[in-house]
Parts: sequence; structure tokens; C-alpha cells
Amino acid sequence: MPTAVESVLGEIRERLPLTKYLVSKGFKLRQTGRNRMVALCPFHADKRRPNMVIYTDEHRFHCYCCGARGDVVDMARCLDGYLNFTTALRALAASVGLSLPHGRPQISEDRGGILTLAAKLYAEHLGSDVLAYLGRRGFPEAFVRKWRIGYAPQKSPQLLRDFLRQHTVAPEAALASGVLIEAGARDGRLLRDFFGNGGGGYIVFPNPARDGGIIDLQGRAFPNGSNKPKYLNLPKGRRYLFNESIVPRSSVILTEGIPDALSCLLVDQPAVAVYGTSGFSDRSVNQFVLCRRIYVAFDLDAHRHSVEIAMQFGLRGRVVMLPESLGRNGDLNDFLMQRGAASFSNDLTQLLQTADTGYGAAINELPTDLQPYDLFESATSLLAALGAVDPISRDVYLQRLHVKYGIAMDTLRDAAREALFMTPSTTFSGTSLGVADPTGH
Ligand SMILES: [Zn+2]
Repeated sequence: MPTAVESVLGEIRERLPLTKYLVSKGFKLRQTGRNRMVALCPFHADKRRPNMVIYTDEHRFHCYCCGARGDVVDMARCLDGYLNFTTALRALAASVGLSLPHGRPQISEDRGGILTLAAKLYAEHLGSDVLAYLGRRGFPEAFVRKWRIGYAPQKSPQLLRDFLRQHTVAPEAALASGVLIEAGARDGRLLRDFFGNGGGGYIVFPNPARDGGIIDLQGRAFPNGSNKPKYLNLPKGRRYLFNESIVPRSSVILTEGIPDALSCLLVDQPAVAVYGTSGFSDRSVNQFVLCRRIYVAFDLDAHRHSVEIAMQFGLRGRVVMLPESLGRNGDLNDFLMQRGAASFSNDLTQLLQTADTGYGAAINELPTDLQPYDLFESATSLLAALGAVDPISRDVYLQRLHVKYGIAMDTLRDAAREALFMTPSTTFSGTSLGVADPTGH
């Protein structure tokens, strides 16, 4: 069953079609196929040649230059400058005579400051052993305190429950936030701490919002137990990227884990973490619309995923290659530990400077022993993506393929165009979006 928010969203898309909304904002749309129109993209400086495709049957848009995508709510968020998705949703709902149901926990708020309270309690329980461990991972105590990293001690399943009770937090509200869970008991229900259930022993990383509140918590086992999960995400959490409230206009590093993002932040490089590679969704792309450069720096074993995500950001995406010396599972935090803060800072700057675009990285990834006649089949999505970017950038990458496989430039240009037309629905991070010719020819 769709949630209340989802059904309101569906209703808005019906009552306020994306095309109608865009026309009301003065956009010029051009039909380029059945159910497809193109327009200049407002998410980046789209000048002469429209790069944004609108799928009129799906009520969605996708810009093949900057990667922006979404529905009418995402568009309104950009054009009308709403702070977040929920605010835009409320405003659009009101404009078409709908109202969002109240009384249910909001997805973008820490109702009653429960998560903020929990983070405070866990920060108070940070012992010298955990501090020493974090110190070995490269994080000095002052930095740990600044980020309010905490500890849910072992064998204390009701530490937070009792603390929240002292702060007169209603049990229902605590349950709704996910920090408490219900455990079966003979005489009715029993509330237990989410991080303390099953023995506890978790370092707790809070995800800060712009206003200083906490919007999510993630636990990492300490010490590692034989049968306890290494990571614990709140049952109601993970709707955010870690530290997403800071996404700057200049550049940002996108990491896989929270400690990786913190490693960058330690040396003053803005960073956001996705909580594991599966934490990156379609909507995540839009978080970065104002960002000029997005450096994807996932762990070494997730390099291919880095390339795919960087390509979703179009020409703004970069793939950071971590040194092989870190080992197969190496990550940015390992790099910080190996090099120490001062050297890490320099090395990281160097890595960012030499980072290639997703397209470039994807070309490097193609096997050298690939037969030229297999290229089209092996690299259709790459060719289709190149078919959609501007002619100068496209030729830069096709030139690399030309050098690598000896295929004539004209043939490659044809192939890119062909791939763009041919791919009926190309897969971008698991969602199917049809590809149209953004040039409109
Ligand atoms: Zn765009």
C-alpha cells in the first residue's frame, strides 16, 4: 500500500503535470517523440541546446548534461528554491488543493529532538578505549567531540530508554524515531534501546542537520563481536546522505562510509557519505545540483560503482582512484591511517587533481584485448551517454576510444548517435528512463 505521502505525490503529478508546470514558469518545450519533450535545463547553465528530456507519460525529467532528474516536486524545489523535498511537496499540494496528512512523523525532522538527545547521551558514554581506537583511525579527540561521535555501551539495553524517560519523551515518539524498539516480554511489551539490544557495544555516528540537530544515527560495532552486525542503521533511518546538509557549491567528495567522509572533513575537504554503496538513489543525484564538481571516492572494491555514479553526474562527476597499496578493500580512512593527517591532506588534493570523469574512467576500464567489433555491444550505455553530451566533450572521449581500438572517429560518432537512439530504456541506477535525442533533431 502506498504511504500517505506517496499517494499525495501521485495525485500532485496527475493534477499538476510537469509540462504544465514548466510552461507556467515560461519554459519552451519541444516535442521530440511520443511522450518525450526537451527543454533547457534549469539545474545547470543550459544555454542554446536543450539537454533536459521530459518523459510526459512518466511525469519525470532527466538532464543528460548535469544528471538532474526527478518529478514536478524536484523541479519546483529547484525553480522556487524550496529548502527540502517536504517543503516543496507541501507547497505544491496546497497549490492544487491537497493537504498532507499531519500527525505522522515527518521524514525530514527530528521530532522532539529525540535523535539529538540520543546522540548527546551516547557522546557522554565515550570511554577512553573508544577514544583510543578512534585516535588510531586518525581522529583526534577534539574532532571526535566536534562531530558528537558517541558510544552505546555493552550490556546496557535500557540506558537510552531511561534517559528519554527522564526527559519526558513519550514512548511512542521514541519508537517512531527508531532509537527504541519493542521487545516481547511475558507481562506486556518491553522497550529496549536499538543500539543496546543484543549486547550493545556500538560506536554511534550522528548525522548533523544544518540547524545543529541530529537527523540520523549509525552504529559501528566496537569491539567486533562474533555474531553481531558490524553496522547498525536505525530502522527508520537512512533517508539521508551523511552530512548532506553541507553540500557546497564548489566541490564535494562522495564517500562510501561515514569514517571516510570524516577523514576528508578532518583535512577540510567537504565530504558526504552514502552509508554503503546501496545508499545512493536517484533522488541523491539532485542533492548535488548546485555543486560544480562531485568526486566519487568509494572503496577500492567498489570502483565500478564509483564510475557508474560519476557518470550520473555527467561532466561534473569525477572518479577518485585510491592507491592500490591500500589493499583490495582499502578506503579513505585506511589512507588517512597509513599516511597521517598532513601527508593525507596533500595526497588527497593530488588525487582530486588527477581524477578522471566517469566517462574517462569507464573507457580506461574497458579491456584492452576487446575486439573492436565487440565495442558497440560491450559499451552501449557508455556510447549512449557520450551521444548525449556536447559535441566537444563527446569528441574528447571518442578520441580516446579511437586511440585504444583504432576505430575511425566518424564511425564512433555514428555509434554514439546510434546507441543513443537505439537504447529504448537505459538503466541509470536501477530505474528505467527512456533516452531521447536531446538535440531535438
Ligand atoms: Zn542540467
